[in-house]
Amino acid sequence: MTVIAIRDLAKQFGDQAVLSGINLDLNQGEVKVLMGSSGSGKSTLLRCLNRLVEPTSGSIQFKGKEILDASVDVRALRKQIGFVFQQFALYSHLTVLENVTLALRKLEGMGLKEANEKALHELSQFEMAPHQSKYPSQLSGGQKQRVAIARALAMDPAVLLLDEPTSALDPVMSRDVCDLINHLHRNGITMLCVTHDLGLASGIADRVLFLDKGVIRADERIDVLANDHSDPELQAFFGKRE
Ligand code: ADP
Ligand code: MG
Repeated sequence: MTVIAIRDLAKQFGDQAVLSGINLDLNQGEVKVLMGSSGSGKSTLLRCLNRLVEPTSGSIQFKGKEILDASVDVRALRKQIGFVFQQFALYSHLTVLENVTLALRKLEGMGLKEANEKALHELSQFEMAPHQSKYPSQLSGGQKQRVAIARALAMDPAVLLLDEPTSALDPVMSRDVCDLINHLHRNGITMLCVTHDLGLASGIADRVLFLDKGVIRADERIDVLANDHSDPELQAFFGKRE
């Protein structure tokens, strides 16, 4: 089943075309990776998917329904499409547990006991239950990332969007994130992951979508892209990583 179908999506900021002619399908249980240079439009594309950015034109269907219609309930949509931000975006004045329960209580209207149980279930999946009473400043980058992912998953989203999940982490923690994404994949979670990190990309997917100046230039196996010496943009991106 196709969970997300993007058709001819475009986004302009002023007269700058940040995305154009984007077509992308994400199927149930699939992990897709989106790569591209800084400024190529990766975050903007992810943000369009849960209406943090309003596209200029085009269509995004989520489970067969258009999400860009004015009548769409954006709060309900964001429960279905979870987002893990590049800098984690945890609330610094809330504990780990409260960071995870907040949306359950506010958006789902869950009572405290039920929300705590659900949050602890998610946190324990990532070995973060023992840290439930800590504040974000008391956690390592990798631990913050796991809390951010637990928080997104607590809403039982149909899709998880991850924006450069390893960019703020050291290489060892990056491998943990790679394992974690593979663990989620085995549990059937559908994911679209933006990354700069070739190690992460090849660790979680066989193919990548390559975004260049707002256009998807390739949907290919990573080794093929990395060895394509005929395309200067691909070479510039992948070549320097060899
Ligand atoms: P990436 O995530 O690939 O680094 P972004 O999607 O963040 O790229 O940004 C793509 C382009 O869109 C950049 O040139 C950026 O400056 C521009 N941009 C992003 N958000 C805004 C905004 N809110 N207003 C104006 N320009 C923006
Ligand atoms: Mg970005």
